[in-house]
Amino acid sequence: MSRTHTCPGCGRDDRVQAVPAVYLGGRDAVSSRERDRDGDMRTVTRTVTTGLSRALAPMPEPPSYAVGCLGVLAVAVAVGTFLGGALGGKWFEDEPAPAEPVERSGYQLVAPEPPFGAAGPPPDVGFLAWISAFALLAAVLVFTLLYRRKARFTRLTRGRHRAEELWSCGWYCHRCGTVHFEGVPGEDRAPLTLQQFRERVWAHGGYGDLAGEQRAVAALGE
Ligand SMILES: [Zn+2]
Repeated sequence: MSRTHTCPGCGRDDRVQAVPAVYLGGRDAVSSRERDRDGDMRTVTRTVTTGLSRALAPMPEPPSYAVGCLGVLAVAVAVGTFLGGALGGKWFEDEPAPAEPVERSGYQLVAPEPPFGAAGPPPDVGFLAWISAFALLAAVLVFTLLYRRKARFTRLTRGRHRAEELWSCGWYCHRCGTVHFEGVPGEDRAPLTLQQFRERVWAHGGYGDLAGEQRAVAALGE
């Protein structure tokens, strides 16, 4: 029975551990008591992940949503400049009374429309309208980008259960730093590097090309 847990690299079983156990064991929820902004004590729980756990992940890291902060910032700028312009520039005040219609040789001529902007913001805050418009555009672009990223990730990792099936048959040797499969038809017991293991597992889930982009060894170095 011990044969099944023997590392094919070093031939010993004392440092061999199932991949899911290593993965989950390296993801600890650490709770600490901290003072919040109002000065009240509260319990904060964070997930601390070791490099090894990250290297053994059955699927890629979800895309970063940090750029969403830029989107929120852009919305704040858009609203701020819009309000600033509207209040400071009195954009929505009644337009001045149109000029008297001009009568010329029997035709009743309507006064020409004032040129664009003449009745709008005074020139000193007109630029705020542009900033507001650009910030709004930037916010729309950022949120579109985030949505598409999330949709792409969900589509890519649709086969994650297949990857996890293979992944859960992996055994990691802490002495050799290698993984081998046990009882998987079509897979031998050859020791695999973390990157080779990642490539097999991720390819099984249908996102094998991502293993080349997010390398397991790079994850270790983080
Ligand atoms: Zn070993």
